[in-house]
Amino acid sequence: MLRFRSLGSGSTGNATLVESSVGGRTSRLLIDCGFGLRQLDARLAQAGLSATDIDAVFITHEHGDHIGCAHALSQRHRIRVCMSEGTWLATGAPAFEGRLHLARDGADIEVGDITVQPFTVPHDAREPLQLRCTDGARTLGVLTDLGHATPYVLERLAGVQALLLEFNHDVDLLAGSGYPAFLKARVGGNYGHLSNAAAAQIARAVRHPGLRHVVAAHLSEQNNRPEIVRRAMAEALDASESEMLTATAAGGSPWLDL
Ligand SMILES: [Zn+2]
Ligand SMILES: [Zn+2]
Repeated sequence: MLRFRSLGSGSTGNATLVESSVGGRTSRLLIDCGFGLRQLDARLAQAGLSATDIDAVFITHEHGDHIGCAHALSQRHRIRVCMSEGTWLATGAPAFEGRLHLARDGADIEVGDITVQPFTVPHDAREPLQLRCTDGARTLGVLTDLGHATPYVLERLAGVQALLLEFNHDVDLLAGSGYPAFLKARVGGNYGHLSNAAAAQIARAVRHPGLRHVVAAHLSEQNNRPEIVRRAMAEALDASESEMLTATAAGGSPWLDL
């Protein structure tokens, strides 16, 4: 069985747990750890886990809300860390004492029974990767920082049973916000973050009868509102607004089975 849980999502920090259980054997991957060590520990405890339960961490890119305590976590608990070479170089190429796995587009990584399949995305980082996670039977797609959808991104998300998808901002709220012009341009640009409308288009494109969960993630606290997101999701997925899930900055999401 494959299940996942956001431990928190937003511009202040992102982390997602993926867990596979096969015949009494459990594998756990943490995708991003954009919190301090103590915060991460508290969030793991809420999920019934501790850092020693994690087999590997995958860092999608070097932005602080994703890389967070990755190095300290790896040093403290001897956990393997996967990230692109660009991400590693962008953070000053820190030493991981043999625990660093350089990830790249198209090269699968095995974390116990979870196969991680990274893919390249357009975002203003050095070599950002987002990913599919599969146990062979079921697949989760994770897409939390994306400037715009490319045919390749949509191809990589085809057929997933669950999707954690960025719904960053409402274009009107962003336009009317107090953000300086350069920041508005960055967030709304081709290498920034997905608007609700752009994310809804992705959800619509990926939708198929076997898609069980779509969880909205990375919502802007200033330039978005959960009710606007749920409306956009419900329209795209032809489902009821009350069933739409948004991962919160404070608590993430519940465990969701694939
Ligand atoms: Zn980012
Ligand atoms: Zn981010």
